Order: sequence, then C-alpha cells, then structure tokens
Amino acid sequence: MNKSNLPKEVVGLLEKFSDKGYEIYIVGGAVRDLLMGKLVYDWDFTTNATPKQILKVIPEGFYDNAFGTVGIKYESHDKPFEITTFRTEGTYSDNRRPDSISWGKSLNEDLKRRDFTINAMALDNTKKIIDPFKGQVDIEKKIIRTVGSAQKRFSEDALRMMRAIRIASEIGFTIEQKTLDAISQNAPLIEKIAKERVKSELFKILSSPHPHEGMILFKSSGLLEKILPELSKCFGVEQKSPQRHHKYDVGTHLFMSLKKCKSDNPVVRFAALIHDIGKPQTYKKLDSGVITFYNHEMVSTTIAKNISTRLKLSKAEDEKLITLVRYHQFTVDDKQTDASIRRFIRKVGLEHIEDMLDLRVADRLGGGATETSWRTEDFKKRIVEVQKEPFTIKDLKIGGKDVMKELNLKPGPEIGIVLKRLFHEVVENQLPNEKEILLKKLKE
Ligand code: ATP
Ligand code: MG
Repeated sequence: MNKSNLPKEVVGLLEKFSDKGYEIYIVGGAVRDLLMGKLVYDWDFTTNATPKQILKVIPEGFYDNAFGTVGIKYESHDKPFEITTFRTEGTYSDNRRPDSISWGKSLNEDLKRRDFTINAMALDNTKKIIDPFKGQVDIEKKIIRTVGSAQKRFSEDALRMMRAIRIASEIGFTIEQKTLDAISQNAPLIEKIAKERVKSELFKILSSPHPHEGMILFKSSGLLEKILPELSKCFGVEQKSPQRHHKYDVGTHLFMSLKKCKSDNPVVRFAALIHDIGKPQTYKKLDSGVITFYNHEMVSTTIAKNISTRLKLSKAEDEKLITLVRYHQFTVDDKQTDASIRRFIRKVGLEHIEDMLDLRVADRLGGGATETSWRTEDFKKRIVEVQKEPFTIKDLKIGGKDVMKELNLKPGPEIGIVLKRLFHEVVENQLPNEKEILLKKLKE
C-alpha cells in the first residue's frame, strides 16, 4: 500500500488525529476498494477518540447521529468523510438492529462487528494493513464471507444478506458456500427489514456491473420470493408456442432481458426485469396450442404499481417505471402514420422515449431475437423526423395575434379554440404547417 495513492485530504485527516495522540484508521469499503485498485468514493474512518474529542480535532466536522459518527465535508469529494468512534455491538433481538451499541475499546472489537471479511480491514497512519479475518486472502480468492458464523450474523441483521449479494454484484465476487447456505436459511427474515433499505440495496444491485448474477443469487437463495414474489411466480410459465418467437419461460425471459439491457439506469433495468410480470395471470392456451397473454401489459402495469408503492420508489422513478411497463408493447409498423407516431411520443413523454427503445432492445435480445429489426430502426428514424414537425400549439406557424387580426376577434377563449383546431389538423396531417395555408384556412 502506497500512501501516495491516498488523497491529500485523507492523509491530512489521519495526521491531525495521530498528532493529537489518537488512534485512527481507514476502514470499510474504502480499504477493500484500495486493495482492489479501485476508485474510492466513500471514505470511512474509525478512532478511539470520542465524538467530543473528534470535534475538538476537527471543529469543522458535524455530529450527525447517535452512533458516534462525525462527518466532514471537502470540496473535492462528493460524499463527506465519516469518522466513527470504535464500536462494539450487543445482542440482537429483532433481526435488524442491535439492542444496544456501545463504544469499543479497541480496533479489533470494531472490526469484529463488521459484516464481511473484505469489509473488516483497516489501514493505519503508517500504511499498515490490519486484517484479523484474512480479508486479503478472500480478495485474492474473490469471495465474500461473513466475519464469524454466517448463520449468526444474518440472523442478527437480515439486511446483510442483501449486502452480500449487492457487493458480489458490484465487484464480481462469488459468495462463499457457507455464507450462501446461511442466506438461504435466513431469507424469510428479510421481511423484518424496512422497505426503504431493501429498495436501496435492490437498486444498487440493478445499478451494478452484474445485476443478472445478483438476481440469480436472489432467486436461488429464496430472497426473490420474499422481496418480489410476483416475479418469482413467472418462473415455469411457458410461452413457447407455434408462431411465437419465445425461447424461454416468462421468468427466464425477464432475467435475460435484464442481462441484455444496455441502459445503466436502474429504473430502466428494473422495467426490463418486470415488464411482463402480469403474464402468469393472463396466460391462456388455445386449442391450436398457441399461448396468449392478452392484455398482459395492463396487468403488468398494475403489479408494477404495487411493487413501486411497496418498495417506496421516488415519484420520478415510479413515473418512469410505470410508463415503460405500460407502453412496452408499442408497435413499430412501417404503415404507421406520422400522426400515430406523434401520439405515441405524447403518450410516453419525450423524456422516456430513449429508455423505451432501450427496453425494446432488451426485450428482443432477452427473448433470443436479434438486437434490432429494420422496423425498429425505421421507427427510430421516424421518431426523430416527426419531431422536426410542429409538436405543440406553440410550434404552429401562426399564433394568437394572427387569429385575432385575421378574424377580427378580441382576446378570449375563442382564439385558443381556433388554434387548437388548426393544430389538430396539422398533427393529423390534413394540413401542412405553412403560414399562408393556415391563414387561408382561417378565413374559411
Ligand atoms: P459502499 O460504500 O461501497 O457502498 P461499504 O462496504 O463501504 O460499501 P457502507 O454501507 O458504507 O458499505 O458501510 C461501511 C462499512 O460498515 C462496511 O464496509 C462494513 O464494514 C460496515 N457495515 C455496514 N453495514 C453493516 C451491517 N449491516 N453489518 C455489519 N457491518 C456493516
Ligand atoms: Mg462505504
């Protein structure tokens, strides 16, 4: 470990505490990321100084909760550095919070309460690594393993199960077998965890480089059934049938769509993962052997809405997710009129169009089809084309003033009504958007 790798703010902070005679260490994800040669965006420190003493060393710090954490903000770093007094944890009786937290006496005590070996290392002021649980060996082997008994650690705090899968998805590690078995055994305990925290971990998995692997771990461990039971039910629902291109059952298709999703927006990825979630409820096998899912996008939308509410998505996330699921069946037909393409853009909203097309590509690839079709490509071009044409009333080549002058009208609601009628005719392609023609039409 080379100190020159550390930002000057970090080195400065370590020195301030050491100069005053306190122990101070970099801990947690930062040490893990440093050892893996990754960029650190979140710096956490632990010290034997009490919060009061911490604030004496750094008067610009802010004391932000009852856990003995002091934050300090630097211009050059997005997230504030967090300095926490050594902690030790008592017993857990609710599977999510220790009954009491007290200050620990030593670094070792503090590291022992941490979740995984790769997260339980510290780096001191002299660049020495303190690694009592062999986190470095596990980084070498690329495995995630709990500190101490996995069974005990997951039953203490059920969120750690999601953290294990999330970190695996982020850094591409595998979960050690005993740790994985313990997740399966404790999966039902996830129901005790606040939905906001479950959502936050789920979205971190979706944002990670390996979301598909994360979902496979979710499913095999039984967590999926607890968090997204509606998605769990899609597995085994067949959709292979004559005249249809589907290769996979609904659940596998959804997982594959996530895998193939090119967008890195977690909401678009989530939409790829659940866009057909209403298929089990709409499954019908006709006498001909053809399987249909009539109206499944509406049922999927209702289920997506329930999930969004349950997991407390933000308003903007909810809006995008629901729009994508609701309209994912849009047609790309070369016989479509410009007007119908414009209607599609208005319905979906210009801000979601790009994501809608990404979802379509994911859906196709996730069903075993080619990435795109000439129809889709043509549709994309036409979306761009029709936007060059008038779009809102404001884009009409004449305005309220022209209407008043031409028809000798006073300002009033009539003007708007006339403009709206003209606009409608232009949008429906019955009238070109040209000033002379529009003025002539007015006189009629
Ligand atoms: P990142 O910051 O990249 O999301 P991280 O590992 O730093 O990952 P944080 O949530 O910032 O995650 O937590 C900092 C450290 O606190 C962890 O590395 C781990 O040592 C410890 N920790 C966090 N959550 C838990 C938990 N639920 N149980 C035990 N230790 C935890
Ligand atoms: Mg962190």
